[in-house]
Amino acid sequence: MKPALIVHGGAWDIPDEAVDACKSGCHRALSAGWSILSSGGSALDAIEAAIIVLEDDPVFDAGYGSHLTLDGHVECDAIVMSGATLRAGAAATLQRIKNPIQVARKILENCPHMMLVAEGAERFAKDQGMPLCKPEEMVSEAEQEAWMKCKADKHAAEHHRGHEQGTVGAVAIDAVGNLFAATSTGGTCCKLPGRVGDSPLIGCGCYADSEAGGVSCTGYGEAIMKVVLAKTAVDLLRQRAICVDPPAASSCDASTADFAARQAVHLFAKRTRATGGLILLDRHGNPSFAFNTPRMAHGYVAPDGTFLTAV
Ligand code: ASP
Repeated sequence: MKPALIVHGGAWDIPDEAVDACKSGCHRALSAGWSILSSGGSALDAIEAAIIVLEDDPVFDAGYGSHLTLDGHVECDAIVMSGATLRAGAAATLQRIKNPIQVARKILENCPHMMLVAEGAERFAKDQGMPLCKPEEMVSEAEQEAWMKCKADKHAAEHHRGHEQGTVGAVAIDAVGNLFAATSTGGTCCKLPGRVGDSPLIGCGCYADSEAGGVSCTGYGEAIMKVVLAKTAVDLLRQRAICVDPPAASSCDASTADFAARQAVHLFAKRTRATGGLILLDRHGNPSFAFNTPRMAHGYVAPDGTFLTAV
């Protein structure tokens, strides 16, 4: 099977001055993941590599440079899910882990549970041989500055301008047909300590099922949870995959992937009135995306191997 890869760097009102940085981050993430997939490597290794690039880039709200909580700390959430086994590894409210996706992977592979939070997750990571950093090492200057302004001014929205949201995600299929999806985030700016959004929740911020496809979401977590957005999109992929004889003049002229992405975001917007977006691969590796925010940073590998990125 031909490998496939799609990534995102968050759906929000990305200002013009951040467009190039978001595009180049997505490009570097594709390049990290694709170098693994195109040489016969696994989809799990590829999405981990892609997400690490995005987590390390402070332009995105994941890993280093994540938004700060009301108390001024970074608290990260991440998940990775296998489409073959339907097993996920998820971690939430991590304060001392440089690359939260690596903890999620360790949980997926080596833990009897599917989700760990806070100190328990960090202790597990340490037992797995991962280094813990100091919480302050996760804080970027830009986020510290925005937080100070928010504190002085009741979280005025304009202090978040330029970095409101930027959760990251990736979905990949490798040459042997294994499908994985992943999402990593620092959550929302000035969130209450201990707040967990949609991102690390199976079915909400991420879902993968090899019989249908894989999805990673971004947007207002409290709304995404209401409609279990990632699972909703995968269900649409499944429904559409069996729609072999669509009624004439139905919206079935769009590809399965496009139909599911658009329909899921449409349902999300209609039922919650919130904003967000998602990326997906259907089970054959066809990429698609949809969002109802002004912009969403994203990129995928085209059939001829070129990297297409857009914001
Ligand atoms: N969904 C994330 C959260 O609510 C935020 C985002 O996607 O930008 O934590």
